[in-house]
Amino acid sequence: MTACDTLIVGGGVVGMSTAYFLKTLAPAMDVVVVEREPDYAHGSTLRASGGCRVQFSCPENILMSLFSIDFIRGFPGRMATKEHAAPVDWVEGGYLFVVPPRLVDTLAANHATQCELGCEADLLDPAALRARFPSMRVDDLGAGVHTPRDGWCDPYQMLHGLRRKAVDLGARVLTDEVVGFDVARKAVLAAALRSGARVAASSFVNAAGAWSAEVGAMAGMPLPIAPLRRFEHYFTCGNPIGRLPYIKDVRRMAFRSEGTGFSGGVVDGAEPRGFNFDVDHGYFERVVWPAVAHRFPAFEAAKCHRTWSGLYEQCELDGNPIIGSWRGTLPNFHVCAGFSGHGMMHAPAAGRAIAERIVYGEDRSIDLARLGYERVVSNRPYAERGIL
Ligand SMILES: Cc1cc2nc3c(=O)[nH]c(=O)nc-3n(C[C@H](O)[C@H](O)[C@H](O)COP(=O)(O)OP(=O)(O)OC[C@H]3O[C@@H](n4cnc5c(N)ncnc54)[C@H](O)[C@@H]3O)c2cc1C
Repeated sequence: MTACDTLIVGGGVVGMSTAYFLKTLAPAMDVVVVEREPDYAHGSTLRASGGCRVQFSCPENILMSLFSIDFIRGFPGRMATKEHAAPVDWVEGGYLFVVPPRLVDTLAANHATQCELGCEADLLDPAALRARFPSMRVDDLGAGVHTPRDGWCDPYQMLHGLRRKAVDLGARVLTDEVVGFDVARKAVLAAALRSGARVAASSFVNAAGAWSAEVGAMAGMPLPIAPLRRFEHYFTCGNPIGRLPYIKDVRRMAFRSEGTGFSGGVVDGAEPRGFNFDVDHGYFERVVWPAVAHRFPAFEAAKCHRTWSGLYEQCELDGNPIIGSWRGTLPNFHVCAGFSGHGMMHAPAAGRAIAERIVYGEDRSIDLARLGYERVVSNRPYAERGIL
């Protein structure tokens, strides 16, 4: 049996961000991250599209985005170590969320919340949309919100930059798998690893992404989080078209410029849940191409060059993350999962939140109480309105 202060299950972007913030807030803390895949072959982070936006309706998500985007913007300066620079390829390309006429009021209400919280966001009617994005079809739209300071980064560099910095600050990463926990009355005492080792700790963090329900179950904490397969495509346009922001609509089409082409897809929320990484090579032509060409007719000639799959860690209760412990039952076992497609952009704020809870016993920066586990226990969903 070895020991540490905090053991984090999962070394993706959420686990590594948590490790980094723990070592920043409490440099003397002994932090161990257990990650079973040294190459992150199946983890979600390296399959993500890199998008970061403030366009949410829940204030918690907007505030997490504001912090995280600022953090990512300053990543190269903050995360460099003596041996390594920390580029993250931030592109301030903006986001544009468009809605049909029936959803204009919801969009306007969300826009008002974003502005109240300090976001730069422009509510545009169809004529203004057309003027700003001349290649876009607007005749079936009611409005759109453009957030020019949003953008995207490289998830690979973000994950490895966080990991290198956390290790530089003294965190330890074990290549191993957590296969069980020793649980006594109201506390997790130790993690059992596939190698046969056992690691005792005073706090534990479940940052196992799409696998977090399995890890929660090992500690006796049920989580409504399931793996949802999603495809990402890299494609080019056969007609001249300028660079585009990250475009999103209510049918879950989402794509953005990437180099000389475009990256994105259409999320199918009805996809059967499960650990399925198979690629449907007909999906682009069947679903994505018609959606993209409808909104931007220039894409009537388009070519898909690559499709890959990955898993959302989908929170089936309400599509929002679960950030917190099971107060009164397992207070030293913290969950940070269920981001439902937003885990890369929210990893800095969520990792900081878990670190604050462990170090100070409370939220110091953003009050995330409404995203806690209590809403699962009481079956009270807290969902986004009008945007996914
Ligand atoms: C195609 C696609 C596009 C996306 N685009 C975006 C985007 O534009 N913006 C955005 O913010 N998010 C996006 N996401 C979502 C984002 O990728 C995830 O929300 C985020 O990566 C979750 O990070 P994580 O660290 O929780 O999970 P992961 O990166 O999956 O890390 C969890 C880790 O836990 C490890 N693990 C699991 N069980 C155990 C165990 N028992 N013991 C040890 N280790 C274990 C796994 O090996 C894994 O590496 C996208 C996702 C996909 C699939």
